[in-house]
Amino acid sequence: VLTGCGDGGREGGTTDAGAGAEEEAGFAADATIGVALPQKTSENWVLAEELFNEGLREAGFEPIVQFANGGVTEQQNQIQAMVEQGAEVIVVGAIDGSQLGTQLEAAKDGGAYVIAYDRLVKNTEAVDLYVAFDNFQVGVLQGTALLEGLAERKGEGPYNIELIAGSPDDANSTPFFEGAMSVLQPRIDDGTLVVVSGQTTFEQVATQGWKAENAQRRMDTILSGSYADTELHGVLSPNDTLGRAALTAVAQAGKETPVVTGQDSEVESVKSIVAGEQYSTIYKDTRELVAQTIATIKALQAGEEADVNDTESYDNGVKVVPAYLLTPLIVTQENAAEVYENDESLFPLTQG
Ligand code: BGC
Repeated sequence: VLTGCGDGGREGGTTDAGAGAEEEAGFAADATIGVALPQKTSENWVLAEELFNEGLREAGFEPIVQFANGGVTEQQNQIQAMVEQGAEVIVVGAIDGSQLGTQLEAAKDGGAYVIAYDRLVKNTEAVDLYVAFDNFQVGVLQGTALLEGLAERKGEGPYNIELIAGSPDDANSTPFFEGAMSVLQPRIDDGTLVVVSGQTTFEQVATQGWKAENAQRRMDTILSGSYADTELHGVLSPNDTLGRAALTAVAQAGKETPVVTGQDSEVESVKSIVAGEQYSTIYKDTRELVAQTIATIKALQAGEEADVNDTESYDNGVKVVPAYLLTPLIVTQENAAEVYENDESLFPLTQG
């Protein structure tokens, strides 16, 4: 028995009176599931592709998992094609969270359920659920790690620091930055931290497309303009790719290694942390995030409600999107082995 899970669902939303005590399915057990991923801006996305393909197939579904390396228009076209192919669920990691309204509204009109994966989809009613790690908390952990790293490695303050934020089109970039600034701003205000370049607003410190070369170019300019006669003690970086770009810029400028934060537990960064270079990263276990998303899809297929544990944090401009948030973990040289204990690809990197 199939019932539509949205207005005008392709199953018409009728129930079969003869179904008796049997559980009513939300949609067919071998349904097509679309997963629209953004660009390969960090390793977590590449891993997600593999895990969605494997996991959805194993659960009996027909996955269509696609990257949109060409940009926003490509992602819009991919989502439209997924809808045309009858996808019952669209999982979307948006490149630009504000540019998918039309396509997702069409998906909803076709009866599909829309899950924002890792990145919130903004300014549209057409999103049913958000599954992600707590982004604001990621920022809080990064800000806290920066302060701890400075005290640990750079002696007494005040400390000279610079700030880097993610891509302005990614809805995550603001909560990352705001979470970090909730910890750092009071220390800027009391003079413990000095942003020598003077660049402290999100707009000033954002990195278009999460591209390493953009962050590196900005750091080069700042280093030659503001640090000719002074040391740079720390850099708030929102992820590992940009953190390594900052470390490269500093090394090329012939300066001492600053305390640099990150996110994603990318292989090169984990090695760097173990070697005492990059200070911290964040562990957001992609296996957990994909598993939670697939568990939700299975529940919907069985005609059950999606799991939600937060109904207030993520206002997308039009509505508060119910969310299932997972907990991010901070990783430094000190706790890396412990945090990665159950991750067979990262744990060995901590063993020297
Ligand atoms: C993800 C981060 C990632 C960044 C760049 C964000 O939306 O949450 O984990 O580092 O995109 O790919």
